Amino acid sequence: MGGMDRSRDPRRIAPYLQDESRWSGGRAEEVVWPECLDDVCDIVASAAAGGSALTISGGGTGVTGGRIPSGGAVLATERLSHLGPVRNLPPDRGALRVGVGVSLQQIQEHVEGSGFFYPPDPTERSAFIGGTLATNASGARSYHYGATRSWVSSLTVVLCDGEILQLERGRVLARDGVFECETQRGGKRRFPAPDWSLPATSKYASGYYGERKMDLIDLLIGSEGTLAVIVEAELRLAPVPEEIVSGVLLFDEESDAFAMIDDLRENGAVRPISLEYFDERALDLMRAQAPFLSERTRAGLLFEQCSSSRDVDSLNDEWLRLAERYRADGASWFAVDAADRRRIRDFRHALPSTVNQRLSRRGVRKFSTDSAVPWEVFPEMLRRSRERLEKAKLEYVAFGHVGDAHLHFNILPRDASEQAAAAEAQHEVAKIACSLGGVMSAEHGIGKIKRKTLAALTQPETLARMREIKTAFDPGWILGPGTLFAP
Ligand SMILES: Cc1cc2nc3c(=O)[nH]c(=O)nc-3n(C[C@H](O)[C@H](O)[C@H](O)COP(=O)(O)OP(=O)(O)OC[C@H]3O[C@@H](n4cnc5c(N)ncnc54)[C@H](O)[C@@H]3O)c2cc1C
Repeated sequence: MGGMDRSRDPRRIAPYLQDESRWSGGRAEEVVWPECLDDVCDIVASAAAGGSALTISGGGTGVTGGRIPSGGAVLATERLSHLGPVRNLPPDRGALRVGVGVSLQQIQEHVEGSGFFYPPDPTERSAFIGGTLATNASGARSYHYGATRSWVSSLTVVLCDGEILQLERGRVLARDGVFECETQRGGKRRFPAPDWSLPATSKYASGYYGERKMDLIDLLIGSEGTLAVIVEAELRLAPVPEEIVSGVLLFDEESDAFAMIDDLRENGAVRPISLEYFDERALDLMRAQAPFLSERTRAGLLFEQCSSSRDVDSLNDEWLRLAERYRADGASWFAVDAADRRRIRDFRHALPSTVNQRLSRRGVRKFSTDSAVPWEVFPEMLRRSRERLEKAKLEYVAFGHVGDAHLHFNILPRDASEQAAAAEAQHEVAKIACSLGGVMSAEHGIGKIKRKTLAALTQPETLARMREIKTAFDPGWILGPGTLFAP
């Protein structure tokens, strides 16, 4: 461990005390930059032996404060950045082995031209693959492709005693409430398995993932840096679609947009890979960058669908017919080339960026909800959440992955005096979703800023089992202290 770069210089520590949550409670005595698996084993074993805290850092794009340390050391993963060759797995899959410090942007560039791509795309491509594994990141196209978990076939992790576990999907399944596995050096390990079932939503990031007979790999994915350090992963790649048909449909009445989604879900006339929603307030916020929006526009839907070259025109016609049937307004537009498709992606990315810029100017942080519910109760969740926010007279926008009945309310305090009301409303909106059979977090996770909501909205016995799992993996509670659970 002698040659490893490490620093106690506050200037080198400072960048690791923040992420996109703008949470400001971070402190650390040291940052360490491992360059290989053995370095990680040494760092973890020595932190465990000394009982000192260790927080794992990825790209710092997380929005819940998970990588922000609460004392001790930061394990910075950026030098664990090797990229293997793209392998072809007939008939139609690719595979890629990566170190966790590689960004999503680097992965997409690396696989370009291979005929494959890595589907999980949580909008922000400077995220490291390690951070996306630890949060089971998803994004617009998860509507069709699923979240990160669906695209991982193996993981190499370092356990809290410094031992290495190599996990192939399908090899370590829960039996009688226990995972039994063997470390690389042949040591036997037993860990309690989750004993709860997931709600009937298509996404989940509300504490440890749990289903009966589950795979250990799926528990470690989404564990937010609290159970083990992920060092390497084998990713699955999907074939690049020949064409993507996409567009932005704008509506004068929100009910028309939702009626169209009902139609898509029930009749399957078209099968989008993403279906994103923007409410009137979100569109208002983007007006300066989107001059095509009319004064009357009350709701927007952004869609993408894979197509063969042969079917592009007929598919565009099908979407056009739907747009007419549900009275989409004349400002709606369809992408005809790659530049248009980029414009659509930029349009989607512009909203969180605009929100963040506005809040930076105000010197406050945003309060964002991340709930998903079963589709049948989505309109009720929306109505009750809006009522709650309007009662509190808070400024907010609503947008998100409507195909998955998953919505973000971003609450924008006008100044510091509104922060307490915003925090309370954020909690209440999550509670509304849970009362309707949904989840408080569908993709961003809990980190440090939502742990109180997790504690309040999770069944006590489930929470107790989660803590038992944490203790079995990390007896000294050294990894990611303050994330998921109060320290
Ligand atoms: C503009 C914008 C849009 C976004 N949109 C989405 C979206 O649509 N969907 C979505 O899911 N997310 C979204 N995010 C959130 C963010 O990009 C994801 O949470 C991402 O997965 C975090 O990756 P990271 O490398 O930045 O992780 P970090 O923020 O560095 O860390 C996140 C968590 O992972 C843990 N961790 C990191 N690396 C490891 C490792 N190697 N082993 C174990 N634990 C580790 C950390 O301790 C921490 O708890 C968005 C963020 C921004 C800024």
